[in-house]
Amino acid sequence: MSIRETNYWLETVSAPAQGLSETPPENVDVAVVGAGFCGLSAARVLAKRGVRAAVLEAETLGWGASCRNGGMVLTGMKLPVPMLIDRYGRELVRKMYAASLESIDLVEQIVSEEHIDCSYVRCGHLEVACKQSHFDAYAEAAARIKREFNHELRIIPRGELRSEIGSDIYYGGLLDETSAAVNPAQYVSGLARAAQRHGACLYDHTRVTRVVSKDIHRGGGFRIETTRGVVQANEVLLASGAYTTSATPALQKKVIPIGSYIIATEQLPADLACELSPRNRMIYDSKHFLYYYRLTPDKRMLFGGRAAFFPESQSTVRESAELLRQGMIGVYPQLRDTKVEFVWGGTLDFTFDVMPHAGKLDGMYYAVGFAGHGVAAATWMGAKLAAVICGDTVDNPFTKISFPGAPIGLRSGNTWALPLAGMYYRALDFFT
Ligand SMILES: Cc1cc2nc3c(=O)[nH]c(=O)nc-3n(C[C@H](O)[C@H](O)[C@H](O)COP(=O)(O)OP(=O)(O)OC[C@H]3O[C@@H](n4cnc5c(N)ncnc54)[C@H](O)[C@@H]3O)c2cc1C
Repeated sequence: MSIRETNYWLETVSAPAQGLSETPPENVDVAVVGAGFCGLSAARVLAKRGVRAAVLEAETLGWGASCRNGGMVLTGMKLPVPMLIDRYGRELVRKMYAASLESIDLVEQIVSEEHIDCSYVRCGHLEVACKQSHFDAYAEAAARIKREFNHELRIIPRGELRSEIGSDIYYGGLLDETSAAVNPAQYVSGLARAAQRHGACLYDHTRVTRVVSKDIHRGGGFRIETTRGVVQANEVLLASGAYTTSATPALQKKVIPIGSYIIATEQLPADLACELSPRNRMIYDSKHFLYYYRLTPDKRMLFGGRAAFFPESQSTVRESAELLRQGMIGVYPQLRDTKVEFVWGGTLDFTFDVMPHAGKLDGMYYAVGFAGHGVAAATWMGAKLAAVICGDTVDNPFTKISFPGAPIGLRSGNTWALPLAGMYYRALDFFT
């Protein structure tokens, strides 16, 4: 069978959540731009609190990164803890780490409360060391995380790694049993249905083209121009992630859209699947230019990486399939003759300091920068911003850090800069 350039997860959603076919209302309390985890989680909370919320989505519900990802529901943040503490201080980082743990609990709570059938399971994640020096650093990382956050990680020495992964190329592993797995397309669809059940109005194929802040003397608020008419809202929440457009230029300038690609094999025989991942962990390696992989609930190997730095297009998706297959065979020679059935890509929302950020820009609420940690973090951030909009006092550490823009001369969206970023990370992997 030839490789299908299709997102495997979408094939598993029998009845995707649909947006409303009528035009959006002229007036709402809150307009949410983007129907991914962040926007839908916010809409669910707003609707539960009796706020009239309209989610405006340019494509279909969940179309962005939220239905395309690896489905790894991860603890922690992208940057290592010592670097975070040096940057932001111990107290703030404690709150950030606590938020990362709380965010997984929130996903679990939503899945359970809303009866979302999405193969959610607390299976843990495993980071595997590509170099001896990476493994040597795990002991200190685990000790620091225990000391600072009272969170337990387990070191897996090289000699015991076969109990975790059917590969001999790594120098050891670092295990966190708190992380979970989910089918992201089923989760985002379930989240959309939940928001709808609670009363949020979701509009697909409704692209926001311009947002104008209204005169404060005439009641303030915003005029939101969309491809399906104009909406007036008291508040706007930008949950547009890596796909943020020039409709909201201040936010767009702060986001670096980076492509990430995934392949999924044919279904594997049960004994082979068990050999490759005996405990069904979410696995990623210790490189900057990393691979991440897992078994799907129907026992395919799903293998992802930043095969190209450009945001996804037909050609980058096609080229990525063979690059990722080679990467997969490098890890698992047992899959040399296994067919790859699916390949797809998505765009990650990096920021210039590789951190999630939330707060207000040009008077609008926003949350962005989840990079490869957005399944749980975007769900959490959407819920927290919704609570703030409802008037709650929320202690959100990610609103307390400065949000850097592009260095001088380097505007976000400059695609020429992305191969340079790729070369930089490859060089880091060589030297560190
Ligand atoms: C290939 C890949 C693998 C990943 N793997 C993982 C993983 O395993 N674990 C993990 O935690 N994270 C992972 N991530 C990251 C995670 O998927 C994202 O961080 C998360 O989905 C971001 O959610 P969001 O709601 O902020 O944005 P998105 O889900 O991207 O939603 C933004 C939406 O806004 C819409 N939009 C944009 N502009 C407009 C406009 N002007 N008008 C209307 N709508 C608009 C877009 O159409 C889009 O649907 C991965 C990402 C990718 C791409």
